[in-house]
Amino acid sequence: MKKLKTKEVYSLKGNRGMQESMYDVVVIGGGPAGGQASRSLAKKGHKVLLVEKHESFALNNFSSAGMTFEPLKEFDLPDSIVGAYWKDIIIQCTKKKYHWKGETNKGVVVDFQKLRQFLADETVKHGGSVLMGYKYIKKEVTDNGLIIELLKTATSETIKIKTKLAVDATGPLRKVMYDTKEEQPQMVLGSGTEYLIEVEQEVYDRFKDKLLFFLGHKWSIKGYSWIFPMENRILKVGAGKTHIKSIDQEKTNQTTRSITEKIIEEYLQTKEYRIIDKHGGILRYNAGIKDRFYYDNVVAVGDAISAINPRGGEGIRYAMQSAELASNYMSEYLNTGNANFAEYRKKWRQKKLLKWKLSEFSGRRMYSRYTDNQVENRIQFFHKNFSIDDLIASLFNFKYNKLFTRVFQYSFLKLSFLLKKERF
Ligand SMILES: Cc1cc2nc3c(=O)[nH]c(=O)nc-3n(C[C@H](O)[C@H](O)[C@H](O)COP(=O)(O)OP(=O)(O)OC[C@H]3O[C@@H](n4cnc5c(N)ncnc54)[C@H](O)[C@@H]3O)c2cc1C
Repeated sequence: MKKLKTKEVYSLKGNRGMQESMYDVVVIGGGPAGGQASRSLAKKGHKVLLVEKHESFALNNFSSAGMTFEPLKEFDLPDSIVGAYWKDIIIQCTKKKYHWKGETNKGVVVDFQKLRQFLADETVKHGGSVLMGYKYIKKEVTDNGLIIELLKTATSETIKIKTKLAVDATGPLRKVMYDTKEEQPQMVLGSGTEYLIEVEQEVYDRFKDKLLFFLGHKWSIKGYSWIFPMENRILKVGAGKTHIKSIDQEKTNQTTRSITEKIIEEYLQTKEYRIIDKHGGILRYNAGIKDRFYYDNVVAVGDAISAINPRGGEGIRYAMQSAELASNYMSEYLNTGNANFAEYRKKWRQKKLLKWKLSEFSGRRMYSRYTDNQVENRIQFFHKNFSIDDLIASLFNFKYNKLFTRVFQYSFLKLSFLLKKERF
């Protein structure tokens, strides 16, 4: 098999017929959603082109990419994309630290660059093409599909590509689905900053094997902060802020940057460290998933349909799930002409709407409404009553059975105590 390079997998230089030929699907955006959509469609035998505006996935390596093992199994992802494994979860509140210990590994921190490169490579392996360094500019609807205009970022040269369908996988900006001036549904906004740093071995050893989250005003503002391990001596340190009124990117970045730097300076207690990369991204999701999923031969996936979970900002797994679901309906359309995309939207909303609404509700309370004491009390309750597996089930899989049972038991005990008191 041809060895694929990070920079440009297939360029126009080697593929002059690209502008003349008709694609089944042009996928815009090489994130987890776009990569999985093109991988899946290419596997199904469709003629696919994946387009990414950056020349290399190293240039927007923004995601912390912490997760359990399940997405690796669900999407048949190789160990080579794993940056580190974790078995403990720590929540550091303003006053106290709560530590859940796992006896075995419970999940991974993925190397985001390698994940996206892997999905692009898989697209090519299954007969698709990938174009790096080309930015989507606009679309024109035609009788048999769309004409997509792309700009080569390095030279400002533009090209036009014909396709039956296009996929909007541009993430929170939804560049393809909505024209620049078009109104979008109301969005909840957030923003995150992360530093990739190299630390001394002794410091790394204190933070390896753990996902560490910060809650409360000392180490986070209207959101949460984190320290995740990567390969030896490398840590990801970041802060996310949510439910902000407007994204003044510079101002928000200043806040999340200053918290990140405070954690590095004061919490890590490292004498020496080296910043390898500073990155970040924005979050824009519609609280009721009222997004447009399909319009004028464009199908949206991933963050472009608010697939990200609003409580923890876990988005990679759901970006890939939405891409997988959408690719079934795109394949059906390409094979039979049946445009059953309303069903795609219905199915996704049936699966996620209630869970996402509950997540948005609990996230909003935890990040924006609770005082430090209230945060501390909630986490203390969890720490007392929940094992690490219970915590993972509720944080990553939205299984709340144990929580509901414990809250019920607690309320019952409290009520019996009050009744007894009443009698004496
Ligand atoms: C700081 C931060 C930390 C996070 N941590 C985690 C985590 O720990 N775990 C987790 O599961 N999720 C995490 N997320 C969320 C997760 O990264 C996203 O939900 C996920 O990446 C969404 O995938 P996507 O493919 O829909 O969009 P994206 O990953 O945003 O991909 C969109 C792609 O489209 C490209 N693009 C945009 N415009 C154009 C254009 N005009 N032309 C061509 N290409 C274009 C972009 O360059 C980008 O590569 C985090 C997010 C942030 C910001």
